[in-house]
Amino acid sequence: MYGKRLVYLDNAATSQKPQVVLDAIVEAYTHWNANIHRGVHHLSQVATEHHELARQAVADFFHARSAKEIVFTKGTTDALNMLAFSFGEAFVNEGDEIIVSTLEHHSNIVPWQMLCSRKKATLKVIPMQGEVLDISGLEQMITPRTRLISVAQVSNVLGIINPVEEIIRLAHAHGVPICIDGAQSAPHIPIDLQTLNCDFFACSAHKMYGPTGLGVLYGKETWLNQLPPAEGGGEMIEHVRFEGTTYNVLPYKFEAGTPNFIGSYAFAVALQYMQAKGMPAIMEHEMHLTRYCEEQLSRLPEVKIYAAGEPKAGVVSFNVYADSREGKRLVHPFDVGTLLDRQGVAVRTGHHCAEPLIDYLQVPGTVRASFGLYNDKKDVDDFIHALQRAIMMLS
Ligand SMILES: *Cc1c(COP(=O)(O)O)cnc(C)c1O
Repeated sequence: MYGKRLVYLDNAATSQKPQVVLDAIVEAYTHWNANIHRGVHHLSQVATEHHELARQAVADFFHARSAKEIVFTKGTTDALNMLAFSFGEAFVNEGDEIIVSTLEHHSNIVPWQMLCSRKKATLKVIPMQGEVLDISGLEQMITPRTRLISVAQVSNVLGIINPVEEIIRLAHAHGVPICIDGAQSAPHIPIDLQTLNCDFFACSAHKMYGPTGLGVLYGKETWLNQLPPAEGGGEMIEHVRFEGTTYNVLPYKFEAGTPNFIGSYAFAVALQYMQAKGMPAIMEHEMHLTRYCEEQLSRLPEVKIYAAGEPKAGVVSFNVYADSREGKRLVHPFDVGTLLDRQGVAVRTGHHCAEPLIDYLQVPGTVRASFGLYNDKKDVDDFIHALQRAIMMLS
């Protein structure tokens, strides 16, 4: 990048793809490209088999009870929209309540807002305490009108790991189902959906070394059976008559149209790649890097780290306060990001699709460094050196 070694620290936005994943995509299009589930011909059967094996691989990776509980979507956003629509149609009426939290990604806010305005329901928000989630009042927030709680397991801005086990326990104690936005946890921490016991879970393949345009909506079979399809078309039907249409079994009921069967195959290869390293080892490696990065950052007096010292999964957010005649002044994150970019360091700046949290922090945005399994200490060192130079230029 600009003649320098690329230091890619924007993994929370999307990960780079290992060669095996790229090879899988080429191999699939080259050797067995055919539409699935419909063809009598051999190629179609091969493609169908790969797609269904990929579904099983996803179920195994997350320890779902059955592959029927794995619905392929376009991504986390698509999964959450699908759930908000479908769940809303079946279970949400005027005066009901949905609970999300302050630190959610827009894709775990806006679909619920849209549902609430469609159904005249109320969106309630779990507040922050300092720079972490405050769930002390959650039990009081839950009422007989609460229909669903949806929270992120890991914040894509702060990197903090939310106490979802406790939130799930509280929700279930009041008979309320819960959805976990796992877009930022699935790449970094081992997840066992049966132990976690959430009712729904969403994630994106492109943040897990897989292809873009593919994601997962997991739902417990008992819940998915009660939900109407969000989209109509081919694949999702059993029989279509103008007098009325009957729907396909799980999970096909939720998969209208030709699915991304090349993407699902490549995603399964990405999951294999992660499993070969081992999720516990990936988590440990990234937690070390995150801690090391925070240590190095905390030596720079101009840097304010958000949620410093909290357990984090691969994400560090900060801002730079430089000296000026009026005293310490916040340097716009965009300027820090631009100066880092010129030195070959890719970070993200801005509101990270979580404006309510950024407003709460009362800043124009943050600079975010986020790690993947291929990052190492040298990446952190190069990033810190580049940041020191940027601070010098800005002071
Ligand atoms: C990235 C992200 C999303 C949205 O994922 P898409 O792949 O853009 O659909 C949702 N929630 C969190 C926490 C994220 O990090």
